[in-house]
Formats: sequence, structure tokens, C-alpha cells
Amino acid sequence: MSTYEIYLSPPFPAPNTKRYVQEAIDSGWMAPAGPFLNRFEALLRAYHGVAAVALNTGTAALHLALKAAGVRAGDVVILPAFTFVATYNAVRYLGAEPVLVDSDATHWHMSVQATERAIVSLKKQGRRIGALLPVHLYGAMAPVDALCNLAQAYGVPLVEDAAEALGVRWGQQPAGTFGVTAALSFNGNKIITTSGGGAFLSADEEVAKKVLYWATQAKQATNGDWCHEEVGYNYRMSNLLAAVGCAQMEYLPHFIERKREIAGHYRRLLKESEQKEHIVWQPVLPQVQPTYWLNCLLFAKPAMREAAMRRLREAGVECRRLWNPLHRQPLARQCLFFTEDDTATRLYAHGLCLPSGHALTEAQQARIAELIQQAL
Ligand SMILES: *Cc1c(COP(=O)(O)O)cnc(C)c1O
Repeated sequence: MSTYEIYLSPPFPAPNTKRYVQEAIDSGWMAPAGPFLNRFEALLRAYHGVAAVALNTGTAALHLALKAAGVRAGDVVILPAFTFVATYNAVRYLGAEPVLVDSDATHWHMSVQATERAIVSLKKQGRRIGALLPVHLYGAMAPVDALCNLAQAYGVPLVEDAAEALGVRWGQQPAGTFGVTAALSFNGNKIITTSGGGAFLSADEEVAKKVLYWATQAKQATNGDWCHEEVGYNYRMSNLLAAVGCAQMEYLPHFIERKREIAGHYRRLLKESEQKEHIVWQPVLPQVQPTYWLNCLLFAKPAMREAAMRRLREAGVECRRLWNPLHRQPLARQCLFFTEDDTATRLYAHGLCLPSGHALTEAQQARIAELIQQAL
């Protein structure tokens, strides 16, 4: 692990964290069950208006979200190439085949046109499409209206990878409530964190019960013994981490407000570079209320991005290129990829994520902006 003076997205301990963790320890529930786990799920449920099951990672949540949507071995699952590898891995855990679609340059998320071409082509080949799996990127949101329409028109379940989108809304409706199932992540770098963790979401209470059952070794109490009918998983979140989660979730409105301030300030600081068309910020669809989990921008030329990244890192500022698309990864090289002009690779070649942590100061932001301007 390299050390930086300013990190990309460090965890921030919300005010009640220590108190809740102490309470969890004192209560004797240092276990994957307990009062904080119930409370954390109740907070998630109240926020989203759907059932929530707290799990030990976002990847586990994705795995069970796909399984609960009915994805089986031999199915195809359609997902964007421009995402983190976890989205892809969850599909592979079920023995399904990931099919990749390109990004739309106007919003970076999976292209609706390319998705429809993929669906039509796969259906023609007689393939069973297990799920459509859009990913909401960096605290913004994919065009869920059009994607939900496609899913409905072709009879394919939609599963949302909302790992980066807790708190984002489409109109008034929160990300993670559009699909039949969805996954959130509370990894250390996300907008709220339980150091590691995730949650499954679904409006279907029966499906949520099933996911809780799968996540706890698929055990049924019979005559005082466990009876097992199905393969299960050990995916439950611990009560200790749920205590951290409660403190974080209560503080979510402050996290979001702060992220929006940081985003606004970056945009003011780099206004001139934007006007000169040296940079553009991640576009946000008009219906979306973003959280700006990470502040992402594209440079006019890849060489500019490289220069900016080098300068920032040398000055002790952690920053990262955007996702290196899946179709470029050795792991996923055999996947079908539906594209017209490989927008995902262009995003990767030009893009950068800037430090966006809760405790970032205006002075630090000014220094980051200055380093970028020097590089330009
Ligand atoms: C973080 C992330 C995940 C995985 O979440 P973990 O909690 O780290 O397992 C999945 N998909 C996307 C897009 C992510 O950013």
C-alpha cells in the first residue's frame, strides 16, 4: 500500500460510530446476528422503501441479487464493459456468461441502443438472458427509465449494481429500487462504509427472506437440528459492522451534502479549464440527483491526463484512472462485446477520478486544481 497525503475516498467515522460499536460489544452480540443488524436493515429499508438484507460484501450482494432474479448456469447476463470487476465476477459465480455492452458517450453508462442490439442478437441465437445488469457509476445513475422499458419489453429481469449509488435519486426514487433486485456496497471507499459490507435490496419480501436464508448457509430448523436442502453461503454481515453501518447511515444526509459541496467547489476551481475545453466533468442525466461519490473528469488528450495524474501523485495526492473496461481484461477477453466505437476505452484513456473524501478541505481542493492546471 502506498501512502498519500490526500486519499481518493477515505472512510470517515460518523459521530456515533464508537458509541454504537461499544454497545454492540457490551451487548454480547459479536456475531452475524444481533440488534444492530436489525436496526441497520431497518434504516436501509426506511431509506429505500424496500426490504434490505445486510451482507458481508457488495459482491456477495450482487451474487445473491442475480441468483434471486433467477439467473442460472448457462444463461447470459448483459452488463456494461465499463465497470469494476466485481460486477463481472458475480455473474461468473453462477456459471452464467457475461455479455458486455459499451458505454454511451453522453452519460458513460451502458448504452441503451447497444443493450437492445445485444438482447435481440442473443434471443436470435436462442440464448436465455438471465438478467440485465446496469451499473450506476461514481454517484450518478444509468438511464433506468429506458433500461427498465427494455427489460419489460423483452421479459428480462433487471438487477441493479448500485454499489456506487447509495443516496442517488432518479426524480424522487432512490437507486436500487428500480430492478427486481439490487446490490449496495459499504466497502471502505464507498459513500458510507462498514469497513467492508453490502446489502441486498428487493421490493419482494419473499425474495428477501430467501436471500437471508441463502446468506446464512441455507439452514432450516427441524427437530432441533439444521436441515439443508440447498447449497448456502456464509454471507451475513456481523452485528459489530452493522453498528458502524447504523452510525454511517444516520449520517448519510451529511455525507451527501458534503459530496455536493466538494463537487461544486471543484467545478468552480476548474471553470477556466472547462471553458477552454481541456476538461469535461462526468455528465449527469437531467432526472438524476447525483451524490458525486467520486469526482470524475475527462481530459481533452490522454497525455494531459497522464501529466495531471503524475503531478498529483508526485505531490502526494491519490488519484485514479477510470475503470479499465472489462473487454480489455485478460479474464474477460472471450466475452461478446456490443459496441460501435468503443467509448469505454476512450473514457479509460482520458478519464481521472479526483480525491472526494468527506474531510477534504477547500485548501486541499485548491491545491489539486492548481496541480491540474499546471499539468495542462
Ligand atoms: C465497490 C463495487 C462493487 C463491489 O462491492 P464490494 O463491497 O467491494 O464487494 C461492485 N460493483 C461496483 C460497481 C463497485 O464499485
